Amino acid sequence: MAGVQADGTPRPDELTLLYRGPLASCDYDCPYCPFAKRRDDPDRLRADRAALGRFADWVAAQDFPISVLFTPWGEGLVRSWYRSTMIELSHLPHVRRVAIQTNLSSRLRWVAEADRDTLALWATYHPGQVTHERFIGKCRELLAHGVRFSVGVVGLPDHAEPAKRLRAELPDEVYLWINAAEGHLYTDEEAAGWTAIDPLFGYSRTPHRSLGLPCRTGQSVVSVDGEGTVRRCHFVERPIGNLYDGSALRALRPRLCSLPVCDCHIGYVHLEPLDLYRVFAGGVLERIPAATPD
Ligand code: SF4
Ligand code: SF4
Repeated sequence: MAGVQADGTPRPDELTLLYRGPLASCDYDCPYCPFAKRRDDPDRLRADRAALGRFADWVAAQDFPISVLFTPWGEGLVRSWYRSTMIELSHLPHVRRVAIQTNLSSRLRWVAEADRDTLALWATYHPGQVTHERFIGKCRELLAHGVRFSVGVVGLPDHAEPAKRLRAELPDEVYLWINAAEGHLYTDEEAAGWTAIDPLFGYSRTPHRSLGLPCRTGQSVVSVDGEGTVRRCHFVERPIGNLYDGSALRALRPRLCSLPVCDCHIGYVHLEPLDLYRVFAGGVLERIPAATPD
């Protein structure tokens, strides 16, 4: 910790916030997703907008380095308040990174208003929901605007050919990740096929044993929900405090993982023994490796 802030709360050296508000709807209909084509009623959308505004105000009021990754259950960028918050946070001098997970379905003109040194996108390609031409067109738009982004695909058999085509047509400097499909066991032959597309697929192929191992979450990384309830990560349920009353900042300390395994990149990237801060140096949140993997 580097002292206290003007309001008496501790000032961390830096903090990464994984934010997930009430929004739980999506414009896509992926067969592997519980949020497919879900609609949020107007009350929920209003609550999501208000919660995001409160969170952004809190970030703006801090005076230590902050990075933010928005990980909505559904699609955030189809909502104006996510786009405007990304723009607003990107211009704050103490915000080092503001990133969001997105299906890239929405218009992208807004990125021109953001600080492209701070903005980043974690984009997922869902073949079956969008054509190759439309998706790669969006990627080209991001490239033209100088936006940092990774793209990725869920490693299902039907996705192999679309993923290969996308990899072949994207410039080498755009990292294309493959996520192991939930509950899917890969033979060595299947894994080799996916590794040919994403040389880092090995990190995703099987869950990482994490029980009792040091993980940065709960110290320099936390998960925040719409009420400001802070958990160490999205997977360990027990809250450690609240963002808005200062209790979460007071609770930050080194911690060991209490769960048997960690199987999602947004979690295990912070698991210290994996050393992924080195692999993804400069792009931990948006999943961009420091060097093009081969
Ligand atoms: S785009 Fe993402 S949130 Fe939307 S249905 Fe597909 S997997 Fe779910
Ligand atoms: S290893 Fe994964 S589950 Fe365990 S604390 Fe870290 S992020 Fe959470």
